[in-house]
Amino acid sequence: MADKKDRLPQNAPGPWYVDSNCIDCDLCRDTAPTVFRRDDDNGNSIVFHQPETEDEKRLAAESKEGCPVGAIGNDGEAVPPGADSPSAAHSPTDKTSSQG
Ligand code: SF4
Repeated sequence: MADKKDRLPQNAPGPWYVDSNCIDCDLCRDTAPTVFRRDDDNGNSIVFHQPETEDEKRLAAESKEGCPVGAIGNDGEAVPPGADSPSAAHSPTDKTSSQG
């Protein structure tokens, strides 16, 4: 699981980020190329564009699930369980949180 403390400063401001555990495997860039790109100076991925469309959010969530080292984080909104399903239903914003 990504850690806010390890968030790379090169990420675009916003809820989605890559942390310093990234091993530069290319999965996220391949999955969501409009969200993730390589930081050539540092040899890792970063979020260069925060997901805006439902499609981008879905692909970012898919990348987060697939990241082999759990280096992708989302600070803002819950990733729906069916994020990898094209028929993921929209759900009303629910303020109940088990975060503690
Ligand atoms: S999938 Fe994870 S480890 Fe691979 S490049 Fe993306 S953030 Fe880095």
